[in-house]
Amino acid sequence: MKHIDIDARGYYGRFGGAYIPEMLHGNVEQLRRSYREMTADPKFREEFDLLLKDYVGRPSPLYYAERLSKHYGTQVYLKREDLNHTGAHKINNTIGQILLAERLGKKRIIAETGAGQHGVATATVCALKGLQCIVYMGEVDIARQAPNVARMKMLGAEVRPALSGSRTLKDATNEAIRDWINNPEDTHYIIGSVVGPHPYPDMVARFQSVISEETKWQLQEKIGRDYPDAVVACVGGGSNAAGAFYHYLNDERVRLVAVEAAGLGVDSGESAATSQLGTEGIIHGSRTLLMQTEDGQIVEPYSISAGLDYPGIGPLHAFLIDSNRAEAISVTDADALAAALFVARQEGIIPALETAHAFAALDQMEYSADDVIVVCLSGRGDKDLAAFSSYLDSEPLK
Ligand SMILES: *Cc1c(COP(=O)(O)O)cnc(C)c1O
Repeated sequence: MKHIDIDARGYYGRFGGAYIPEMLHGNVEQLRRSYREMTADPKFREEFDLLLKDYVGRPSPLYYAERLSKHYGTQVYLKREDLNHTGAHKINNTIGQILLAERLGKKRIIAETGAGQHGVATATVCALKGLQCIVYMGEVDIARQAPNVARMKMLGAEVRPALSGSRTLKDATNEAIRDWINNPEDTHYIIGSVVGPHPYPDMVARFQSVISEETKWQLQEKIGRDYPDAVVACVGGGSNAAGAFYHYLNDERVRLVAVEAAGLGVDSGESAATSQLGTEGIIHGSRTLLMQTEDGQIVEPYSISAGLDYPGIGPLHAFLIDSNRAEAISVTDADALAAALFVARQEGIIPALETAHAFAALDQMEYSADDVIVVCLSGRGDKDLAAFSSYLDSEPLK
């Protein structure tokens, strides 16, 4: 198999690239020219590593889940991104990008957010660095995710509603891009996942790669080898999966399992299983798989989890799945809810609804007793308590 990386123009195979309006060319080109050099600078590394350690709380533990292991008849380890400051993996990327923005001399930060997790992580690092922060969020999501909206405001960010289209994540992304076009000089756009034009997918994957970097030495310590038999992660845009897979991409001993949201079912018309329903096209600046009609209109995605209902996936994941390096599994709302409840009661850990999809995938996988499976526990479930409460009220307790 060939080595997996981007080429000079930001493509993984046929996927990726930078399809941007002329007005953004200067900004994206500035990033493209500088991100590798800036992030390789020892001063940058030092500041990044120190903030990850003392501010985010890294390394995040790799936890052997004894009761889940017994239940599944295999060895299950959880990479605890839920224990990071702000409760998910998103902060790894926003720390990296705020340090870049500082070095680029940008004073104004914009971001898009769906469930609000990336908005909170961006508002957090802007407060940390004293930079102005504007977060675009669909009007529908603002109503659905009130606690995260309050958090962003508490941190000093301005939350601007996206009022067009379905008034969810893709519309917020469109608004953020529009803002960037209008404010190219002083503004940096912090994209929250491995999506968007090159260099974003590669840049975000590198910031998140700390997840698998730690997993390697943690496994070495715990089991005497630095690789598992499988890594399982949920995929919205794909940043936690990219980070959890990164240092194993070229190691074929490791199965890579990408878990998508099937919503009410892959063929129900209410789904976000992009790798199964998607076709090649261009969304938010890159060529990838996306859910679209025959004449190229975006099909509205659906998932109970606001972090997974994006109509595309990052170009890395389109490539990994298309080339059969990664397996795609899709999980319904109902199975994700059941998995969240199960994990809560087996391990005393309430996972985010997004992460619950990764746990539910364990039911669909085959493995043997001595296999080592690492599940990326991308975030905690505090933000999803309303959904869990109504589930508890509706389900007969087992
Ligand atoms: C945002 C989010 C996701 C989905 O985003 P990716 O870029 O695919 O990782 C998954 N889990 C949690 C907890 C999130 O907040």
